[in-house]
Amino acid sequence: MDFRSDTVTKPTLAMRDAMARAEVGDDVYGDDPTVNDLETWAAERHGFEAALFTTSGTQANLLALMSHCERGDEYLCGQQAHNYMFEAGGAAVLGSIQPQPIENNPDGTIDLAKLKAAIKPDDFHFARTRLLSLENTINGKVLPIDYLKQARAFVDQHNLKLHLDGARVYNAAVALETDVKDIAQYFDSMTVCLSKGLCAPVGSLLLGTKEYIAKARRIRKMLGGGMRQAGILAAAGKLALTEQVAQLKIDHDNAKHLAYGLNELPGFFLNPDWVQTNIVFAKLDETVDIYSIASQLKQENIIISPGNPIRFVTHKDITRTDIDLLLQKLSALI
Ligand SMILES: *Cc1c(COP(=O)(O)O)cnc(C)c1O
Repeated sequence: MDFRSDTVTKPTLAMRDAMARAEVGDDVYGDDPTVNDLETWAAERHGFEAALFTTSGTQANLLALMSHCERGDEYLCGQQAHNYMFEAGGAAVLGSIQPQPIENNPDGTIDLAKLKAAIKPDDFHFARTRLLSLENTINGKVLPIDYLKQARAFVDQHNLKLHLDGARVYNAAVALETDVKDIAQYFDSMTVCLSKGLCAPVGSLLLGTKEYIAKARRIRKMLGGGMRQAGILAAAGKLALTEQVAQLKIDHDNAKHLAYGLNELPGFFLNPDWVQTNIVFAKLDETVDIYSIASQLKQENIIISPGNPIRFVTHKDITRTDIDLLLQKLSALI
């Protein structure tokens, strides 16, 4: 039982079967029918002209930023944005693109007035502000559709592009009970992780216009991301998007169940009503030695990431029974 992340999900039997049977070719020559099918299908499915299959979400975000921005440009993003905090500074290191982070509100949005104040004047002292990058879900929270509308109007007014780090955008769509297109429609580009709660072993997508994706394809090659018989991975990726989306609703319900249970434990503090998707954060008081608890749980094959706040993630390979067992063990160890 691994509560660290939804990235730990194992591919389904259907995926392994599809991988074994996938028709393949050399994708760098454009010859892999399974990759081509995934890219064509995914573009249409999400309402974009084109799609690119990438090795990871980190690579997809880097391609997204480097395809919107040139050296000396900057992008606006949240202080907690994955593509600012957790991608080894790739946009700056490899793209010479300056990030301009702005604090996120508790609901994950970024104040538009603060964003406006951060846009640099057209003056050679400054980097050129080109892009706003949002993230949905962000720390498990869903950006309201109304905010997306406002963000679109904002970028149009200021002549910026709008990118969505949609690693978990399907969790957002499921939580809003809407189609993923209703979220995607506001963005010039979007990434989707196939290998988180959607259970593919490897891979993400970058979506955008034909011209934009052609640029991203060139940069992907430059970064060593041109893969050969990648159809074996793309076959699993297609099933992620067609067969695993329904699982996310179960994951969300399980996260709520976990949140209510954690809230009963002494020393754990959270508001279960704030849990919107598959990620649960709890604050701990000083009575809880979470590092010791984590190492004791590990001996029972239960893996958690100790920290304060502590984060638990639900996914396909965690059942309701697993959650009840975790709660029981935690309560015995506190
Ligand atoms: C996981 C994640 C990524 C990166 O995906 P990898 O496939 O792990 O590189 C990007 N953005 C967000 C919001 C993520 O959660």
